[in-house]
Amino acid sequence: MIQSVAFIGLGAMGYRMAAHLPQHFDTVYVWNRNFEKAQQHATEYGTQAVELQHAVQADIIFSCLPTSTDVEALIAPLSIKSGAIWVDCTSGVPASAKHLSQQLKVQNVDFLDAPVSGQTIGAQNATLTVMVGGNTQAFEKARPAIQAFGQLIKHVGDSGTGFAVKAVNNMLLAVNLCSVAEGFTTLKAHGVNLNEALDCINASSGKSGVTETVLLQRILNRSFPLTFALPLLAKDTGIALDLVREAKLSAPVIALTQSLIQASSDLAEKDSDFSSAVKMYESWSKITLE
Ligand code: NDP
Repeated sequence: MIQSVAFIGLGAMGYRMAAHLPQHFDTVYVWNRNFEKAQQHATEYGTQAVELQHAVQADIIFSCLPTSTDVEALIAPLSIKSGAIWVDCTSGVPASAKHLSQQLKVQNVDFLDAPVSGQTIGAQNATLTVMVGGNTQAFEKARPAIQAFGQLIKHVGDSGTGFAVKAVNNMLLAVNLCSVAEGFTTLKAHGVNLNEALDCINASSGKSGVTETVLLQRILNRSFPLTFALPLLAKDTGIALDLVREAKLSAPVIALTQSLIQASSDLAEKDSDFSSAVKMYESWSKITLE
C-alpha cells in the first residue's frame, strides 16, 4: 500500500508528470534544485515542497534529471527510507541502473529504471509510455504510482533494460530525423512542393514519427519549440552507441547517426530543440526546409 510518493526534478517532463500524483495520493512531496520551482508546483497542484532528505522518506520516489551522472550524484549522500522504491524516469545509462540497484540494496531500497517516451504533451496528458527495468516485485508495487502519468507501462527485463530500450528508441528517432533532413532537402533541390510530398509520404511506407509530427509541427513551420533539448538527444544516441560497442556488434547506421546528432548539437545555439538538428543539413545544402 503506497502512503506517500515523491518527485525529484521538476523540469520540462518532471513538472508535468508530478502534477498528476495528487489526484491519486494524499501525500506528494516535490523537490527541485531550483527550489522556487518546487514551491510553484506546490501552489499550482497541491503537492508539498520539501527538503531533499525529507522527500526521500516517501514510499515511492520518482526522479527525472538530465543524466545518470546527475542521479548518482544526487543519491550518493542520501539516507533513503528503508523499503522504498526509487523509480528513475531519467533517460539514463543501463550500467548506472545496475550499479544503483546494487548500491541501494544496502539501504533496503529497490531501484527501477523507468524512462518515459511521449514528450511534454504526453507528460501533461498522462499518456506516457514507460519502459521499466528491474526487480519484478518492485515493479508491481510501484505500478499504481507509475500509472498516474503512464499509459503504456511495460516491464522489459532486469535492471538497465528500461534505459536500453529508451536509448534505442531515441536512436531510431535520430536516424529518422537525419534521413528526413537529407530526403527533404533533396526533394526541395529538385523543385518538389514539400507539403504535398509530405502528404504522399505519410500515406506511404516511408512514414515515421518524424514525418507524421516533427516535420510539420516543428520544422516546416520554422517554430522549433524547445520541449526536448538537442543535447539530451545527443546524450541518448551516445548511450545507444555505447550499448552497441559493449555488445561488440557492428552497427554503422547507429555510429554515423550518433556522430551527426552530436555534431548538430555542438553547432546548435543554446536551448535548441531536438528538431533543430536539421539546421546542420540546411547550412550544408543552403536549402531551408519550409
Ligand atoms: P530539463 O532540462 O527540462 O529538466 C531537468 C531537471 O533536472 C530540472 O528540474 C533541473 O533542475 C534538474 N537538474 C539538472 N541537473 C541537476 C543536478 N545535477 N542535480 C539535481 N537536479 C538537476 O529536462 P527534461 O525534463 O526535458 O528531461 C529530463 C529527462 O527526461 C532527460 O533524461 C531527458 O532525456 C528525458 N526525456 C525528456 C523528454 C522531453 O520531451 N523533454 C521526453 C522523454 C524523456 P533545475 O530546475 O534546478 O535546473
